[in-house]
Amino acid sequence: MRLHEYQAKQVFSDAGIPTPASELAGTVDETVAAAEKIGYPVAVKAQVHVGGRGKAGGIKLVEDKEEAREAAEDILGMDLKGYTVERVLVEEAVDFVNELYVGVTMDRGEGEPVAMVSTRGGVNIEEVAEEDPDAIAREHIDPAFGMHPYQARKVVYDAGVDRAIANDVASILRTLYQLWDDRDGADAEINPLMVTGDDEVIAADAVFNVDEDALFRQPELAEMEEEGEFAESELERKADEYGFDYVRLSGNVGIIGNGAGLVMTTLDLVDHYGGTPANFLDVGGGAKADRIANALDMVFSDENVDSVVFNIFGGITRGDEVAKGINQALEQFDEIPKPVVVRLAGTNWEEGMEILNEDLVTVEKTLEDAVQRAVEYAEEVEA
Ligand code: GDP
Ligand code: MN
Repeated sequence: MRLHEYQAKQVFSDAGIPTPASELAGTVDETVAAAEKIGYPVAVKAQVHVGGRGKAGGIKLVEDKEEAREAAEDILGMDLKGYTVERVLVEEAVDFVNELYVGVTMDRGEGEPVAMVSTRGGVNIEEVAEEDPDAIAREHIDPAFGMHPYQARKVVYDAGVDRAIANDVASILRTLYQLWDDRDGADAEINPLMVTGDDEVIAADAVFNVDEDALFRQPELAEMEEEGEFAESELERKADEYGFDYVRLSGNVGIIGNGAGLVMTTLDLVDHYGGTPANFLDVGGGAKADRIANALDMVFSDENVDSVVFNIFGGITRGDEVAKGINQALEQFDEIPKPVVVRLAGTNWEEGMEILNEDLVTVEKTLEDAVQRAVEYAEEVEA
């Protein structure tokens, strides 16, 4: 479960991490009022659960009332990677000379938490992590002892952080680790941690993801989750309405299956064959025509999806019924918006394969072939 930036900043600020003055706004007038109160320049920042808001146009720096109004009009209601922006954080702009990155997460490979620091923070940290992993200093932490002060100093020093601010950064990192530990964090991140001309260090962004399974003992964070649900995406709303287990992911291969394990396997295979999954969608048992039509409606209305792979295992639901469902659902379209690949297994799979209308879908016998084909289709669209 992910906190919004404004919520994570509240948690960080309560723990003593410096954050800019800010106010949440839900309308254009509220945005302007907050900007006037805080004083220009201010940053107007979309509060949605996606990374890379800066690059996607969800953050604007404004110098006066007129610009504040324009920014609010632009950002409020905009679609940011499938999420409608319903609130913005209006925040005192920081005049920075440097952007650092600090983060704490679980290193599953090592089976230990890891603290990370980089002097190359800001919007390109993902690229830095990929192209130049050494630019991010890392220090593993024994959870039984917590983060020793010397460990914080060491990782800050290893990252090459300027001496003038090294102590402040180390202290912020220790606070971040403590929060991560106390509040059952999954990931805690400040990117950028901005450095000003007079050596002040201030958290300009805040990410805090909470371990879902621990929410029962973090009532304050659970409440924040409920409070923040306004930003649920259109697709998630649809999934609730249809009664599907659905998670939107960042790729372009749409996935529909019955049974969580089967869907997970399909996801892994898409990844294995060089594609990227667009979603997790489990239609559950009894996949009748209307359920299949609803599932297709979901993946087709996701603009990121370029191809779709159906992976259905017939149990009580027989393969021929599923095949009829797929045909019926697709016959409703004058033109199939995205290529669909189907693989059936289990009860009556052979009858099912015969029934499937190959003018509407591509049929593959094995899961491997079906996934590969869907990945190829997606690549063709991308090219
Ligand atoms: P993200 O793109 O969703 O991670 O959003 P961030 O809050 O990290 O902002 C992205 C980028 O916008 C930062 O790296 C800055 O370059 C810029 N930015 C954000 N807030 C401020 C601010 O207060 N002042 C200035 N000058 N730039 C800002
Ligand atoms: Mn950021």
